[in-house]
Amino acid sequence: MNKQKYIDLVRVEPGKKIHLKDYDTGWAQTEEFKDLDKDESKEHANAILEQNLADLTQMQQLLYADDRYSLLIVFQAMDAAGKDSTIKHVMSGINPQGCQVFSFKKPSIEELDHNFLWRFMKSLPERGRIGIFNRSYYEDVLVVKVHPELIQNLPDGKRGKSFWECRYEDINAFERHLERNGMVILKFFLNVSKKTQKKRFMERLERPEKNWKFSVADLAERDRWDDYMDAYEDAINATSTEWAPWHIVPADNKWVTHAIVADIITSSLRALDLKFPEITETQLKLLAEARKTLEDE
Ligand code: AMP
Ligand code: MG
Repeated sequence: MNKQKYIDLVRVEPGKKIHLKDYDTGWAQTEEFKDLDKDESKEHANAILEQNLADLTQMQQLLYADDRYSLLIVFQAMDAAGKDSTIKHVMSGINPQGCQVFSFKKPSIEELDHNFLWRFMKSLPERGRIGIFNRSYYEDVLVVKVHPELIQNLPDGKRGKSFWECRYEDINAFERHLERNGMVILKFFLNVSKKTQKKRFMERLERPEKNWKFSVADLAERDRWDDYMDAYEDAINATSTEWAPWHIVPADNKWVTHAIVADIITSSLRALDLKFPEITETQLKLLAEARKTLEDE
């Protein structure tokens, strides 16, 4: 498997202008799976996932011990694209003590009374830890761009192209600041098709145990599908940077999504110069003395 090639397929090169319609939401796009049938593909993806989750457990321990970097993972997607289940799977390889998940909903009145990045700043992972954002400050250039009436409490001004460009600029600067302070940022857009969303909505309606996941308001957002795709495209094009790249992950088959996301996370951690803290001569001496004290008890 040529991992780099496979990651390059989903990673959006900074400066490159992507079109979402060029990205396959299914499983065939990833070269690795192209020559396999669906069952083989699923098996292969699960094997990658298991290996990665095992590696992730170790890498996280090292991240924690090293205590210089933190990892921020951002998930954005349309409803029913599989954010929750991807987070659940990725988390299964992580020690809960070293990880926090934050889900961002409609901002509260207090949050609306601050700059749009404020509520996210407060939830960033500390050094040595992994933070997962289930939705993020990107909602402020996605749902808010599709529904500009959500812009509240700001001084008057035009809400045209330059308004959004300023927000992208702010986001890039914010992420740059974080990266310069030791944060690794990985952003995932789970790319689901409109057809698969319908199938998953139907399941939510038909299966009583899934009813709670459906909200009638989700249909109104589905109605604005094309506007959302435009907003995603613009946001991804403006904010995929060297220091905080976007990944467009096929999301019509969950096993593909899980495998790719886990793979990218472990590869990024592996690329860091993580090491266990060095024990000095003096510390070694103290350890030897402690051992002796215990032995002599
Ligand atoms: P869910 O993730 O399904 O629980 O839904 C959370 C909802 O909160 C989604 O419909 C988001 O679009 C919405 N949301 C998140 N951030 C914002 C924001 N800044 N302004 C308005 N709505 C938001
Ligand atoms: Mg929802």
